[in-house]
Amino acid sequence: MSSTVVAIDGPAGAGKSSVAKALAARMNFVHINTGSLYRAIAYALLQMNVAPENITPEDLEHISLAFDGARLLLNGVDPGENLRAPECAAGASAVAKIPFVREFLLPVQRSSADGQWIVMEGRDIGTVIFPDAKVKIFLTASAAVRAGRRLAQGECAPGATLESIQKEIEARDLQDSTRATAPLKAADDAVVVDCSDLSLEETVDAIAAVIKQKNC
Ligand code: C5P
Repeated sequence: MSSTVVAIDGPAGAGKSSVAKALAARMNFVHINTGSLYRAIAYALLQMNVAPENITPEDLEHISLAFDGARLLLNGVDPGENLRAPECAAGASAVAKIPFVREFLLPVQRSSADGQWIVMEGRDIGTVIFPDAKVKIFLTASAAVRAGRRLAQGECAPGATLESIQKEIEARDLQDSTRATAPLKAADDAVVVDCSDLSLEETVDAIAAVIKQKNC
């Protein structure tokens, strides 16, 4: 199944979502955003009044997550833009460190491939979820560029500055890359694409060229 996966991993704000979405549209693949799973757990915990670091396996019994194509359903409902709130990003990074949370999300991610071509973005797709994905991309950009893109997208707390966003991104990268379970890192066989100086289209072109090279 994993031969039909294009894995795109990388740090926060590198543009994974925009790139994965555009690439999937161009290639007619399904786009799966796995960050939304961790964000959805953080969002559900907010509603349950549970701090992310206090999550228990029992809390997960009240949370069901499934992809309907590219659309994520949380307890049967599309949580939509609620997941983009900064507190969901911070909560996602906090729950993502916890092994039982990652185990809970493993089958949701693996079953979403189901023989169809997918572009799956996240932090551990090429290393843990689909270690034999046909194409693995590690998409990165400088922290300053990533902060600038987040600010431009308006995906930040009210009153946030370039500096405060860069700090938040760097803190999340540090938490994601130093955790014991499934840390953020490039797979040994990933192609690293630094898009600091590339437009969205140029980045998609670069990844499409890798896919072509692999004869997919
Ligand atoms: O990509 P996004 O910013 O939506 O991810 C939110 C958080 O979810 C990340 O900072 C990371 O901690 C976690 N995550 C992860 N593994 C993935 C996708 C996201 O740990 N495959």
